[in-house]
Amino acid sequence: MNYHINTGLIHEKFTTDCECPLCQIKKAVEEQFLTEYLNDAVTDDDTRNEVNAEGFCFDHYKKLFSRPNKLSLALQVSTRFNTVLKNAGTPTDAKSAVKTATALKKSATTCIICHQLSIAMGRYYIGVAELYLKEPVFREELLSCKGLCLNHYAELLNYAKYAGSKTKDYIKDLTFVQERAYERLNTELKWFCDKHDYRNRLKPIGTSIDILPRMCEKIYSKELND
Ligand SMILES: [Zn+2]
Ligand SMILES: [Zn+2]
Repeated sequence: MNYHINTGLIHEKFTTDCECPLCQIKKAVEEQFLTEYLNDAVTDDDTRNEVNAEGFCFDHYKKLFSRPNKLSLALQVSTRFNTVLKNAGTPTDAKSAVKTATALKKSATTCIICHQLSIAMGRYYIGVAELYLKEPVFREELLSCKGLCLNHYAELLNYAKYAGSKTKDYIKDLTFVQERAYERLNTELKWFCDKHDYRNRLKPIGTSIDILPRMCEKIYSKELND
């Protein structure tokens, strides 16, 4: 599967009110993969081979199972399961027992969707930097967003060099947006704590009402009910 990024999605998510536009992009891309792996991918030989080799992690198995196309999942699980058993082999002595054990334990840790998602997101980290270099309007969108989760801020820093001649400005703007977000979150967290003081009981909680779920997104790149 050769993934091409959608710059429209970058513009859309950087102008959405959220704690991390890249988490939102990741969700949209993951959604595309989940749909593909339950539809066209089942009939494509290359993709079937990739699924056989890597399988699905527990999270993606659950997400695939929550959708209507159960036959498609069953076909892929069947071939993957038998590939794992075949590769693990039948142990006959201590040495082959350890080999079988290692193969079986490893089988639940690989995932074709996680793998493809990580390749696609790598392209988005580059794409965001390139957009900053090429489209001045994107700089405005970046400056108006509420910052990124810690993981995605780190990823954009890792790939900052793709902003070419504007790399230093890009890092400066990213950092400005992040530090402004930290200040806002700290204020919201402090008010959440202070609100528990009985002297503040009649004052409105305001945006601090959902500060803990939003801190979860900021720190772990995941929503509490994911
Ligand atoms: Zn994120
Ligand atoms: Zn996965």
